[in-house]
Parts: sequence; C-alpha cells; structure tokens
Amino acid sequence: MITKGINFPPAMKRVMSKLPLMIDCQEFETFIIAYFDDELTPRQRLIFNMHLRVCRECREYLRAYQASMTLARASAASAETELPELPEDLIVAVVDALSDGDGPDRDS
Ligand SMILES: [Zn+2]
Repeated sequence: MITKGINFPPAMKRVMSKLPLMIDCQEFETFIIAYFDDELTPRQRLIFNMHLRVCRECREYLRAYQASMTLARASAASAETELPELPEDLIVAVVDALSDGDGPDRDS
C-alpha cells in the first residue's frame, strides 16, 4: 500500500538502469580486445553493447577493428595452411628413391 503510488514508466526505468552502465569511448576501447577474445562478462558485454548503441563513432571504430581483425586472421590462416614449396626435382628424386628401395621389385 505504501509503494503503490510510485510506478515509474518503463522508459524511465530503462534510462535509470542504463546510467550506471555508461562508459566513455576510451573505456570502450579497452573492452574491444576482451570482446574479441570472448573474455567479457555478461555485464561487461551489456555495457559494451550499450555504448555501441549510443555511440556511432565507436560503432564505426569497432567495424574497422573487426575488418582488420578478420584480415589479420585470414592472412594468418593462409600462412598456416600454406606449405613451403618444394622444388619439383627434389620431389621426383624422393619419389624415385622410395620406389627404387622397397616396393615394386618384390616379384623377383
Ligand atoms: Zn564511443
């Protein structure tokens, strides 16, 4: 009966719950690395997303960061899968040596 009169509208409640979660762009930057390492707590993630929603600069910053990350990851991946190239005559020599040694002359 006492608290019945106080009923904040949902929009107001939303604003109020947002306030303690506000971070500035500099803090946001420190979140980004953890964000990509998947090391943000659910609360931090919420703060992160909140800032993203209100700050266009950081949205663009994140997009650029993401693009460079993807690029870096892609080049790292291709470097990993790329095998060192062997000279062809070395391969031929190896194959020759192998087939000479133990395989085909079994029927003698
Ligand atoms: Zn920002």
